[in-house]
Amino acid sequence: MESELIQNDGKFIWHPYTSQFQAPETIAIVEGKGSKLIDEHGNTYIDAISSWWVTLHGHAHPYIAEKLYQQALKLEQVIFAGFTHPPAVQLASKLVEVLPGNMRKIFFSDNGSTAVEVALKMAVQYWKNQEQKPLASHTIQFDDEQGLSLPVSPTGRNKILALRNSYHGDTFGAMSVSERGVFTKAFHDMLFDVIFIDAPDETTFPTTVEFLEETGEEIACFIYEPLVQGAGGMQMTEPHWLNELLTEVKSKNIICIADEVMTGFGRTGKLFASSYLNETPDIVCLSKGLTGGTMALGVTACTEKIHSAFVNEDKLKTFFHGHSFTANPLACTAALASFDLLMKDECIGQIEKIIDLHILFIEQLKKSDAYAKGFILNPRQCGTIIAFEMKDKHNDYLNPISKKIHRKALKHGVLLRPLGNTVYVLPPYCITPEELNKVYNVIMLIVEEML
Ligand code: PMP
Repeated sequence: MESELIQNDGKFIWHPYTSQFQAPETIAIVEGKGSKLIDEHGNTYIDAISSWWVTLHGHAHPYIAEKLYQQALKLEQVIFAGFTHPPAVQLASKLVEVLPGNMRKIFFSDNGSTAVEVALKMAVQYWKNQEQKPLASHTIQFDDEQGLSLPVSPTGRNKILALRNSYHGDTFGAMSVSERGVFTKAFHDMLFDVIFIDAPDETTFPTTVEFLEETGEEIACFIYEPLVQGAGGMQMTEPHWLNELLTEVKSKNIICIADEVMTGFGRTGKLFASSYLNETPDIVCLSKGLTGGTMALGVTACTEKIHSAFVNEDKLKTFFHGHSFTANPLACTAALASFDLLMKDECIGQIEKIIDLHILFIEQLKKSDAYAKGFILNPRQCGTIIAFEMKDKHNDYLNPISKKIHRKALKHGVLLRPLGNTVYVLPPYCITPEELNKVYNVIMLIVEEML
C-alpha cells in the first residue's frame, strides 16, 4: 500500500530524467545522515553516487546546517546588481585563491548548466568585444533580412570546440556543446553547431593537431570536462594527453573552458582535475560539490584576460547576464562551510582512504571471474571515482541493465545509478571503509548474479 506522500508525489510531480509512461516507483526519503539516506519506512541506503555527484561531507551535515541557520537569520537574499554581501565576497576571494590558473573574477549563477551557459557567452562575447569601433556605433535596428545589425566576431572566431562524448548540462547552450544522443535528440535541429573532437590519446591526438592547424584561428573556445567525462559514461583521459591537447589549443589562442562541475572539490583526488595539468584554463565552471551538495549554486571563474574585454565604456560590451538568485547568501554560506570542512586534515585523509580502497577493489575486479569471462570491461579509477562497463548489446544510456542494477542494489541498501551499462561509484567523502566495502560487495554480488 502506497503512502499518502507517494500517492501525492505520483499525482503532482514530474521527476527529472524519468519516463512518464509507467513511471517507476519513487522512494520517499525523509532523512539523511552521513552517507546514508533513510526512507519513510526506516530503510537505509548508502548513497554511493553522492546524490547525483553533489554531496561531499554527507547529508544534513550539522556544521553546514548551523552556518546556514545563522545566515538565514541575518540575510537570506539580496539583488546582486549594485549590491554585494559578505558570504559572496568571502567565497569569491577563496575561490580565486585555490582555483588553478590565474582566476581573477567570479561570476555567480544557479547550477552547472548556467555556469556553462555563462562561460560560453563570456567566451563568445570576448571575441565580439575585440571590435575596435564601439559596438554602440553600429546601427541597432531590427530588419527582417539582416536581423540585429551587430558585427559578427571581428576576429572571425565563431566556432566552438568540444569533446566527443561530452556532457555539459540541459539548457540549450549546454546541450549544444554536449554529445548528440538520447538526451538531446528532440532538439537537434535547434542546437547550434559545434565541432567535436576525440578525447586525446596517442591515436587521436595527431588528427586533432592537423585539424587545429587548419581551423584553429576560427575557433572561439574549447570546452572540456578535465580527466573524467561524467555523464558520457565516466570516461577517463590521461592527464598527459589532455595537457598536450591544451598546449595545442592554447597555441591557437582559443579560450579554454574547464567544466569542473563534476570533477571539482576533490573528486579526482586533487582539489580540481585541472590541478593535474600544467596548462591552465581561461574559464572554469563549478557547481555540484561547491556547496558540499547542500544548495544550488553555480560559479564561472575567469582570468583577467577574459574580464578585461568587458571593461569598456561602450555599454554594448557589458555582459548582459544575471539570474534572480545570483550569489544567494545562503548558497554562498553553504559553500564557505563546505570549504572549511574540505580543507580539514580529516577530509583529506578520508579522500586518501577512499582512493586506497578503490585501488584494491579495481584489483579485485580485474581478478574476478566476470572480468576473465569478459562480462565486465575496462575497470578504471580516477581519484574517488571508479567505473566499469557490463558487457551488453546496447551501449547507451537507455540500456535496461541500468534499472536492473539500480533496483537490485537498493534491495541491498545501496544507491547505485549506472549510466546505461556503466556502473560507477562516486561516494561522499564521509563514507566509512565498512560502508564502502559493503558497496563493493553488493556490486560483486550483483555482477555474479547476472553472469
Ligand atoms: N557539467 C557537467 C560536467 C556535469 O556533470 C553536469 C551535471 N551532471 C552539468 C554540467 C550540469 O549541471 P546541472 O545539472 O547542475 O545543471
